[in-house]
Amino acid sequence: MRRLILAALLLCVCACNEAAPPATDNLDAIARDYVQLSLTIGEKEEGYIDAYYGPEELQAKAKADAPKLNLEQLSERTQQLRTRAAAFEDAGDAMAQRRARFLVAQLTSAATRLRMMRGEKLSFEDEAEGLFGVRPDVQPLASFDPVIARIEGVVPGTGPLPERIEKFSNRFNIRKERLKPVFDAAIAECKRRTLEHIKLPPNERFDLKFVTGKSWSGYNYYQGNAHSRIEINTDLPIRISRAVDLGCHEGYPGHHVLNALLEQRLVRERGWVELSVYPLYSPQSLIAEGSANYGIDLAFPGNEQIEFEKRVLYPLTGLPAEEAESYARLQQALEQLSGARFTIAKQLLEGTIDDSQAVRLIQRYQLVSEERAKQSVEFTKQYRSYVINYGLGQDMVRADVEAVGSDPTARWRRMEALLSEPTLPSDLKGRR
Ligand SMILES: [Zn+2]
Repeated sequence: MRRLILAALLLCVCACNEAAPPATDNLDAIARDYVQLSLTIGEKEEGYIDAYYGPEELQAKAKADAPKLNLEQLSERTQQLRTRAAAFEDAGDAMAQRRARFLVAQLTSAATRLRMMRGEKLSFEDEAEGLFGVRPDVQPLASFDPVIARIEGVVPGTGPLPERIEKFSNRFNIRKERLKPVFDAAIAECKRRTLEHIKLPPNERFDLKFVTGKSWSGYNYYQGNAHSRIEINTDLPIRISRAVDLGCHEGYPGHHVLNALLEQRLVRERGWVELSVYPLYSPQSLIAEGSANYGIDLAFPGNEQIEFEKRVLYPLTGLPAEEAESYARLQQALEQLSGARFTIAKQLLEGTIDDSQAVRLIQRYQLVSEERAKQSVEFTKQYRSYVINYGLGQDMVRADVEAVGSDPTARWRRMEALLSEPTLPSDLKGRR
């Protein structure tokens, strides 16, 4: 009997030892190697690193290492590092476990991106899941026809619907010389509303620049030290609703706040160096784009965006506000077509349609002009399945934040946690 107990005990000790991470390794070392590896992959692909503000010597070493390593060797290193991180998934307290899971998820994306860089062709869904940690549900385009039929009935004028919408929407274009004051006022209001609920680092700041020649409408280049460079693309006319949208999305409580909180709470307070690098093709992007899009509704619930626009922004633009409500209703209706973008992206990226067919389908199912459809196609060709992060990310963040109930304070508290912790798509409640 005694021998049996002893044997059972030994078995347990052996099993425990097998599951435990090696005593010679730790998450700080793995995190540093992850930053080093990410920066080295970044040397192989322009735009892979969206932001980096960690130790300069890691960047210098990445530049020196990159020419000596091919993509196959980088893939091997990624797998090895992922195995090391996975050994810590059940070790330590809840935050340590989340840290390990975050590193594993980020390294899974790096492995997927390296497969793509080596020429492997993935389906749209496999690519999206491999890079961003969520499998999109791609609907047939015909399923969006009833939405289009409903919109048809509310837009004035005759002729093809995309043209009618373009003509109507052009009444809300902000004149170029009024862009700066309108954006300044919108961002100030987004910031004021965010600061009522989230304490930001005292030195946080951003620069705003209007640029041209881009496939995106706005971009936040996070510089570190709570500083963002926000760029707004003026290639196409900017409508009045975009001021609050972009102010929240790029600024408050969107990308600028997310990056500033991660830097303050995780990089500086906990010393988690892995958050000082942001690889664009990673689950971080689903959380970033989803929270930035949902942040608009959180900061301006119900009718508050339109009320603010009528009270402050319309007078600044000089545009008449009589049709402001109809325009806002149209924007809301168009949001229901966001899933069609995934379907068209899938067809374009898998080669079942060409660029000009994609432009026509975007006009028909996103109800935009040819110019805007062309810009959208350029974006999809550049960033590929990244397009899922906007609509799907927004739905997932909304479901998670609104699961706490209708109290605005509770919603902001959940949003703050989501923005300041190592949040993965799999952490979101109500995830698909
Ligand atoms: Zn964004």
